[in-house]
Amino acid sequence: MIQVSDLIKRHGTLEVLRGISLEVSKGEVDAIIGPSGGGKSTFLRCINGLERFQGGRIQVGSHVLSPETNPRQHAATLQAVRRQVGFVFQQFNLFPHLTVLGNLIEAPMLVLGESRDEATVRAMQLLDRVQLSAKADVKTTSLSGGQQQRVAIARTLMMRPDAVLFDEPTSALDPVMAQEVLAVMGDLAKDGQTMLVVTHSMAFAKNVATRVHVFAGGYDVECGSPDQVFGAPEHETTKAFLAYTKA
Ligand code: ADP
Ligand code: MG
Repeated sequence: MIQVSDLIKRHGTLEVLRGISLEVSKGEVDAIIGPSGGGKSTFLRCINGLERFQGGRIQVGSHVLSPETNPRQHAATLQAVRRQVGFVFQQFNLFPHLTVLGNLIEAPMLVLGESRDEATVRAMQLLDRVQLSAKADVKTTSLSGGQQQRVAIARTLMMRPDAVLFDEPTSALDPVMAQEVLAVMGDLAKDGQTMLVVTHSMAFAKNVATRVHVFAGGYDVECGSPDQVFGAPEHETTKAFLAYTKA
């Protein structure tokens, strides 16, 4: 579903991604952990076509992004990639002037051409899935952070993405709210949603991920099953990072 080969990204002379390859197949959940500044967010942004890159190749479904891909000449490809891959941000990015339901149905109506009724039926199903049916008609500004993030997840799913990228979805939340959001993400994973998740939650990486990647200094320094990465880490960076997260 997502295939990244030898991805290189530079900001000026700073090489932020130094040749990263990674594959997420349908129904898999890949978790990316690692120290701040390692390139995790940049990596997700490249996959979603939010950033250009200088080397390598990204394939999402049947669409290919390359260093030559640019917003002017390849707008249709970029749009197709963004439709196929949803993105859940750390800061929920909901529309404050709309209700919860309004946030969910806007894009499906505008972009997918769904009728209001059709979109509303699906929205109510998804709100049920994130346990927020009762909040359909309230403004998102009246919700807690955990509730807002669950709305943001439902809004992303409204676009029927083939895969969803999460960039530290719980790092702006207190532990209880983070738990609510992680529970919803765990349910999605169980239902076979393909996901690529940058996370601070070692519990999520351990218990939900198919595969765990450790990003540091622009490299995927270690990658394996949760049992391998957490139980028998091989790379010094992984050992140091895991010791630090336990402290
Ligand atoms: P992470 O998400 O793992 O914390 P990032 O992908 O945000 O890491 O950043 C990786 C590196 O790229 C950092 O050194 C950061 O300072 C640098 N970086 C990110 N965005 C920019 C930018 N727009 N211009 C220059 N450097 C950037
Ligand atoms: Mg980041």
